[in-house]
This record gives sequence, C-alpha cells and structure tokens, in this order.
Amino acid sequence: MAESMAKHRIFSGIQPTGEPHLGNYLGAIRQWVEQQDAAAPHDALYSIVDYHALTIEMDTGALDRHTLDLMASLVACGLDPARVTLFRQSDVPEHTELGWIFSCLAAMGDLQRMTQFKDKAEQNRDNINVGLFTYPVLQAADILLYHADLVPVGDDQVQHLELVRECARRFNRRFGETFPEPQPLLSKVPRLKGLDGSAKMSKSKGNTVALSEPPEQIRAKLKVAVTDPARLRRNDPGHPEVCNVFTLHGFFTAPHDPARLGAIERDCRSAALGCVDCKKELADRMLEHLGPIRERQAALRARPDDLRDLLEVGRRKAAEIARATMETVRERIGVRVPRRPR
Ligand code: SF4
Repeated sequence: MAESMAKHRIFSGIQPTGEPHLGNYLGAIRQWVEQQDAAAPHDALYSIVDYHALTIEMDTGALDRHTLDLMASLVACGLDPARVTLFRQSDVPEHTELGWIFSCLAAMGDLQRMTQFKDKAEQNRDNINVGLFTYPVLQAADILLYHADLVPVGDDQVQHLELVRECARRFNRRFGETFPEPQPLLSKVPRLKGLDGSAKMSKSKGNTVALSEPPEQIRAKLKVAVTDPARLRRNDPGHPEVCNVFTLHGFFTAPHDPARLGAIERDCRSAALGCVDCKKELADRMLEHLGPIRERQAALRARPDDLRDLLEVGRRKAAEIARATMETVRERIGVRVPRRPR
C-alpha cells in the first residue's frame, strides 16, 4: 500500500487518426513500453483519445476502425493491458464532464496564445472548429481526472501542460485543494525530423513511415530521405550530428550493435561510408525491428472482438478512478450532489 501511494501516475493520450508512424512510435509508444518494463514502473494510463480526433474530419465509421487498429498497434508494440491502463477516452464519459467544468475556468486569452491551435488552424483552414480551440481544456480533464502527476511531453507541448496546471490551480483556488499540478516528463528522444528534412515528422506532411507500411515502400522512402544537407558528393566528409538518418540509426542499430553506430559515425566523417549504403543499412535494421510488430499487429487486427474485450479491461480500470474523482468534484462545485443518508 505504502509503495503504491509513493508511485507516480503518468497519463498520456494518442489520437486514433490513422496508422501510427515512426514519429508516434519513437516519440511516444516505445517510451511507454520502456516505462512499463522498467524495474519500478509508474502507474500508467494511456488513452486512445477519440474525442480529440473528432476535431478533424473523417469518413463515417473510420473513427471506430482507427480506434481498433490503434489498439492493435499499441499492444503489438509491447504495451500490456494487464500492466498499464490502456483505454478509449469516450468509454469514460467523465472526461467530457470535467472538460466542460474546466472550460468554465480556463481563460480565453490563455487558449488564444496556444501555438498548436494556430498551427492546426493553419492546416485545417476549412474546418477551424471550436473543439480545435478548446482541445487543451479537454486535455486538462484527461490528465487531472486521474490525478496524474507526470505527463510525458515533447517541447512543443509544454505550453499545453502549463494550461493543465493553470486549470488545476484555478479549480483548487475556487473549490478547495483537489488536483495536483502535474510535472512534465520531458522526452529523452531527440526531436525527430521528417524524412524530407522538415522540422517535424508528421502524417499530414507525408514525411514519415507508417509502422505497417510494406517493406518495399519503406525502402523507397528511406532511399530519398534527406541526410546531411552539406554533403553533396559521396567523398565529402559527412556530419552525422545533423543527419536524420544517423539519428534513426540510433534507434534501430544502436540497441543491437552499439559498436556499429560508432563505426557509422566514424566512417561518415571520413567519407568511407556513403549515404546510399548507410540508408540501405538503416532500412535493413528498421525492417528487422518492425517485422515482428507488423506480424502481431496484423494478427490482432483480425480479431476485433478480442480488441474490444481489451478496451473493456482498460475501461473498467479507468472508470473506477474517474468515478471517484468526479464524485469529489461534483460535491465541491455543487452539481448532482446526492441525497445524504439520514
Ligand atoms: Fe547521414 Fe549516413 Fe550519409 Fe553520414 S553516411 S550523412 S550518417 S546518411
């Protein structure tokens, strides 16, 4: 008991908007699995945030399909529903209930300053919906509903986490101490550039690789991936520290063969290794790593009922915490207060 009380609680979410890609895998999912497999893992909740995915337009029926596919991918990547709480956001209605309460506390000015809203509004010019604007408020509810005190974030999400903390402070000031102010768990993963060399790997930019993409397609994408932009000819010395291909070798080659990573770095600098061979080697390592994940992913996707059962396991665990939180919240703010037993 004492041990579980001392444990940190982590919350993180992932949107079911299509195939998870390398950026999702290396930047989030793989770290969740490492955290789960650590000697002293935190109490972790990972949510497939389907309400957040409604902020972008999708074909009818696609959301459910993407949710099941994502569940299959998360389990295939190594997340164990028995050891972490892996659930679908919409299965726990308290998320939207607390989201509304926080939207009555959050300041418009704070939301207007969110750079992610500005970016997303730019990308979705014909669908700048209110959900896109209030997204961080629902995110605050996602996290605080579970009293999570640690939130894995990339440097582009620090601003959202500050809003979460502000929602907790405003609620606590007005209704009494209820929520913790979660701390960022900053990613150890270096920022991944897109294969086209642009600032961020993202599906909308088409500069990444989906986990289930056919091998020949992965090879073709890596073949044209941007490397050290200053290296124009094969016999020019390279600069691995600015090369995205080298960063990816760090994920796919280093864990199995750290000495090889050192050799790539040295041979790149001396021009003994050319970019074509270096990328071919990366494709081999990447396909070796992704192969077993893709097999498990396909097997799980063929069993949608089993995936729904796994979602139900997560729902039960998440709902128990959410119910208790909302009983306290309703009581403190004075809504749905139950008749007291005499
Ligand atoms: Fe990058 Fe490899 Fe080319 Fe060096 S040899 S610049 S690490 S792709």
